[in-house]
This record gives sequence, structure tokens and C-alpha cells, in this order.
Amino acid sequence: MTKPHRLIILGSGPAGSTAAIYTARAELKPIVFEGLQAGGQLTITTEVENYPGFTHGIPGPELMDIMKQQAERFGAKYIADEAVWVSLARRPFLIKTHEAEYSCNALIIATGASARWMGLASEKKFMGHGVSACATCDGFFFRDKEIAVVGGGDTAMEEATFLTKFATKVTIIHRRGELRASRIMQEKAMANPRLHFAYHSVVEEILGEEYPLRVTGVRLRDVRDNTTSLLKVEGVFLGIGHDPNSKVFKGQLEMDANGYIVTHEKSTATSVAGVFAAGDVQDHRYRQAITAAGSGCMAALDAERFLEG
Ligand code: FAD
Ligand code: NAP
Repeated sequence: MTKPHRLIILGSGPAGSTAAIYTARAELKPIVFEGLQAGGQLTITTEVENYPGFTHGIPGPELMDIMKQQAERFGAKYIADEAVWVSLARRPFLIKTHEAEYSCNALIIATGASARWMGLASEKKFMGHGVSACATCDGFFFRDKEIAVVGGGDTAMEEATFLTKFATKVTIIHRRGELRASRIMQEKAMANPRLHFAYHSVVEEILGEEYPLRVTGVRLRDVRDNTTSLLKVEGVFLGIGHDPNSKVFKGQLEMDANGYIVTHEKSTATSVAGVFAAGDVQDHRYRQAITAAGSGCMAALDAERFLEG
């Protein structure tokens, strides 16, 4: 068995790369596994306008590339592979990837979360061009427009309510006749004059134009009688939930009912000493690049202190 690495980081989104910058500068020689989505969720967005430091915004892939280069400059090593099995019961921790097996004294988990999608080809086509899964990120682009939000849970209510700050009309499309959202969120949504509801409805297709690529409407299907109708909108927001990328750690770390890794208050410590979690994999509330980066910094400092101890 080769000597364990001091620190391994799983994930190369804002949380993982920020942890890599800090721990590389602390000379911990971190190994970063990039996972299947090198650079994380921001690599599928066009413009990031709310990450501090960029007056006129920056394309998501470029921002993630800069973070990686910054970490590499201090000696972080990025590997294009993902963890498929881990053992956290004993130290050193063991990690198997598709290619090899690694061990480490401290581990930072920054594997993020994935927005759920409806699974339509047109949804993929218009992603970033009228289709979004993040109201906080993209709501600003829909000022004075009519848009739709898909979903009937708290996320959909919260995002739809937030979007009424910009849009003139927001239609919530829900597949059943009853919302799943908590009563208080439902009441707030129903009292909002800019919010409308299309119940018993599913999006069959997102419609739009090619040059420039933009959304012009959605074809809805009433699930009770299969009749279809057209709803004119310029934006479609997905609010059907997120799944944390935490399956590989199931049974080894404390998680909440939705699979988010539980971290101790005001730190990134998990239920296993020496394992730290940062970013969307432990945060279902904020889910922003800057909060992920901030918690990546916290995880780096926590791991550094742990290794010193
Ligand atoms: P992620 O960015 O999700 O990165 C997770 C990383 O973990 C990936 O590199 C993945 O490959 C890797 N990984 C997963 N599983 C494994 C494994 N088993 N082993 C190794 N690696 C693994 N936020 C903003 O602040 N502003 C915006 O404008 C904005 N726009 C967005 C647009 C879109 C379309 C989306 C989907 C999100 C947007 N967000 C935005 C949210 C933001 O992208 C996330 O909050 C942020 O990326 C979370 O960072 P993270 O590092 O926790 O995880
Ligand atoms: P959720 O509660 O699982 O709701 C998902 C919604 O999307 C449901 O209404 C579901 O319909 C619908 N849906 C799922 N897949 C779909 C598909 N393929 N097509 C169409 N519709 C689909 O998820 P969430 O709203 O993200 O909430 C997750 C957790 O976070 C919850 O515990 C919630 O309370 C919490 N949360 C809290 C707040 C807050 O308190 N401020 C804010 C956001 C989230 P069905 O109802 O028919 O299943």
C-alpha cells in the first residue's frame, strides 16, 4: 500500500476548487477528483452575473477554468475521474475510482447537487436560453416578461414568488390538483396577484425559435383528458427538486431525509472526524456559487486544522 495522501477533494465545482486553492497554498498537495461534470454546475450556464469580482459577469465555464488554474498554480492536482466507492469507517480513508484506489488522511466532499429535469429534449435544447433551474441566478433576465415555473413543492412556490419581482405574470404548472408545498408557502403564493396556476398539467414540449435560440411558449397536456393547450411564455423555470450527489457515502455519513450530508453548525465537519463537506451537497437552502465557494474555504481551513491536530 502506498503512503496515504494528506487530503483528497471530491468535486471540482466552486466548493471543491476553492478548497483546492486554500489547501494547495497550505502545502497539503490536494488531489482533486473532477467527477463527470468537470467544473460543476456552472459549466452549463452562459453568464454568471452575481459572482463578486466580475463587473460585467463572466461565462460559467470560464469562471470554473480560472478557479482550476488558480488551484493548480499552487500545486493542486486535478484528476479526471470520480469516486465510485469509499470506506470512511477506518483511517486512512479509502476511495476507489474507475481507474485506481487511493487513501487519504482527510477528505473534503464537494460533490454538489443536481437539479431534477423533466427529461424533454427541448428542455436541454433551450437550457440557458429561456430554460433555467435557478431563479436567483436567472430571474433578472426576465424583467417584464411572462414565464412559467414547473412544480408544486416549496421550491416551486419560493422561486415563483421570487420571480414575480421581475416577471409580469408567472404561471405555476403542476401535474396534480393539489400542491405539495407547505400551507404557508401556498397561501403566500395564492395571495400574489402575479401568480397563476395551471393544475393537472404537464409540459409536453418547450417551444421556441432557433435564431437566436429563445423560448416562446410551452405545450401543456391536461393529464385528466389528454387535451393540449399552448401557454405563451418567454421563460421556463424548473422547480421540481434537486438531488444531492451523495449516494456513494450512504450509510457512512449522517444525512437528512433528502440525502444532504449533515454538517455541524458553523463548520463543515460531518459525522466522521476528518471528513468535511462543502457546497450544495450539504446545503439545500442557498445553493449559490459564492456560498459553495465560501463553504469550500471553510472546509479547507477545517481540514488543515484537523491534519495539524
Ligand atoms: P457543483 O458545482 O455541483 O460541483 C460538483 C462537482 O462534484 C462536479 O465537479 C462533479 O463532477 C463532482 N462530483 C459529483 N460526484 C462526484 C464523485 N462521486 N466523485 C468525484 N466528483 C464528483 N449560482 C450562482 O451563484 N450564480 C449563477 O448565475 C448560477 N447559475 C446557475 C445556472 C445553472 C444552470 C445551474 C444548474 C446552477 C447555477 N447556479 C448559480 C448554482 C451554482 O452552480 C451551484 O450552487 C454551485 O455550482 C454549487 O457548487 P458545488 O461546488 O457545491 O457543486
Ligand atoms: P419536492 O417537495 O420533492 O417537490 C417537487 C415538486 O415537483 C412536487 O410538487 C412534484 O409533484 C413535482 N415534480 C417532481 N418531479 C416532476 C416531474 N418530472 N414533472 C413535473 N413535476 C414534478 O421538492 P422541493 O420543492 O425542491 O422541496 C424539497 C425539500 O426542501 C422539501 O422538504 C421542502 O419543504 C424543502 N424546501 C423548503 C423551503 C422553505 O421552507 N423555504 C424552500 C424550498 C424547499 P408531486 O407533488 O406530484 O409529487
